[in-house]
Amino acid sequence: MKQRLSILGSTGSIGTQTLELVRLSSELSVAALAARSNIKLLMEQILEFRPGLVCLYEEDKAEALRQQLKERAEDQETPEELRAYLRDLPVLRGMEGLMKAAACPEADTTVVAVVGMIGIRPTIAAIEARKKIALANKETLVCAGHIIMSMVREYGVTLTPVDSEHSAIFQCLQGEEKGSVEKLLLTASGGPFRGYRLEQLRDIRPKDALKHPNWSMGAKITIDSSTMINKALEVMEAHWLFDVPMEDIEVVIQPQSVIHSMVQFQDGAVKAQLGVPSMLIPIEYALFAPERIPLPPEEKLDFRSLTKLDFSIPDPEVFRGLALGIQAGKRGGTMPTVFNAANEEAVAAFLQERIAYLDIPAGIEAAMEAHEVKEDPSLEEILETEAWARAFIRDRFGLSEETKAKKLEDTTC
Ligand code: NDP
Ligand code: MG
Repeated sequence: MKQRLSILGSTGSIGTQTLELVRLSSELSVAALAARSNIKLLMEQILEFRPGLVCLYEEDKAEALRQQLKERAEDQETPEELRAYLRDLPVLRGMEGLMKAAACPEADTTVVAVVGMIGIRPTIAAIEARKKIALANKETLVCAGHIIMSMVREYGVTLTPVDSEHSAIFQCLQGEEKGSVEKLLLTASGGPFRGYRLEQLRDIRPKDALKHPNWSMGAKITIDSSTMINKALEVMEAHWLFDVPMEDIEVVIQPQSVIHSMVQFQDGAVKAQLGVPSMLIPIEYALFAPERIPLPPEEKLDFRSLTKLDFSIPDPEVFRGLALGIQAGKRGGTMPTVFNAANEEAVAAFLQERIAYLDIPAGIEAAMEAHEVKEDPSLEEILETEAWARAFIRDRFGLSEETKAKKLEDTTC
C-alpha cells in the first residue's frame, strides 16, 4: 500500500533510518519533514526526497533555511523544475509549524521521531487529523499516555510502535487474545555499565556513557540506556500501548540484544521476537504491519555466529533511575512527567558536563520527593508539571536558562 510520510525528527537517528526505508521501498514517499535546527542535513533531504512542506523548530534556523532555498532557486545553475519547487516550498517554524507538519493533508502516516516530550502536541495534532501514527517518541506516552491512547480510540486511528521492544511485543501479540497474556518481558541490553558496581559509576563522563555496546542511537536515548532510565520509560510506554498493568511488565537483561522482547501467556508459553539489533525492522513493521517488505541481508540474523543468549535481572541499587521510573509509573498522575522532565533536563546538563553522572538519578529522586501529584492530569497540567520539574533541576544544580539553551555540538553518537 502506497504511503506518504510526514517525518518529525527527520535528521535524527530514527528519522534518517526511516528515510533509508523510503530509499528501499517504492511504496513510500515523503510529504513533510521536520527537525529542530539541522539545516545542512534537512537541505540534503529536501533535495533528495522533495517533501511538500518542511519545518525547523528554531525560528532563526527556519529563516536561514528560507534564505538558502531562495538563493538556490535564484541560482541559474539550478535546473528549472527544481527552481520552481524550491521557490514554492513552505518552511514552517516553532510548535505551530511542527503541529502543521504532523497534520499535513498530503501525509497518510506521521512518524513521530522527535526526542523528548516536545512530541506530545504534534502527536495530538496528528491524531486529530486522523493520520496513522508510527510512534518512536516514548516520552509522549510516558507523560500523556492516558490522553494519547484515549484519543487514539476516540478518533479510531492506528498507532504503531517503532521502539524495538514494543515492536517485538506487538509482533508477539498478533493473533492472540488479550485476556491470555500473563506478562510482558521487556528485554534490555544493560548498556555499557552492565555488571558495574555503584562506585564505578561516580566518575562516568559523557564520552563513556555515549558508547552503547549494541545500538547506534541519538545522544539522549544513549545516555538513558546507560542509566537504564530508557527501560523505565519503556515499561511505562508498554503499559499504555498494550493496556497491561505496570505490575505485569518485567525487565530482563539480554546482553546480546537479539531477543527484542517477549510475551508470556497464561499457559506458560513464551513468544519472543528475535533479530539483529537494527531499527530498520521495527520501523518497517510500524509502517507496514501486518504486512512486511523484504529487507537487505545485513538485517538478517546469522545463527552460525550466534552461539549463546544470556539473561539476567538488573540491579535496582546500581540502576537507581530504573527503580525510580517504575515507582513513578506505578504512582501515575503527574509523577511520570516529573520523572521524565527531570531526566531530560538532567541528561542535557550531564551532556554539557555541568553535572555528574549520578546527579541524574539523584536529581530525579529529589524532584519526585518534592512533587505533589495531580491525578489524571490535563495537557496543560502536564506542561505545567514539566516546567516545574525542569526548574527544580536547574535550581538544584545551579544551572541557568542559558545552559539549557546552549546547543550541543554533536547530538548524535
Ligand atoms: P536524535 O537525537 O537522533 O534525533 C532527534 C530528532 O528530533 C532530530 O531530527 C532533531 O532535530 C529533532 N528534534 C528535536 N527537538 C525538536 C523540536 N523541538 N522540533 C522539531 N524537531 C526536533 O534522537 P533519536 O532518533 O535517537 O530518538 C528519537 C525518539 O525515538 C526518542 O524519543 C527516542 O527515545 C526514540 N527511540 C529511538 C531509538 C533509536 O534507535 N535511536 C530507538 C527507540 C526509540 P535536529 O537534528 O535538528 O536537532
Ligand atoms: Mg527500545
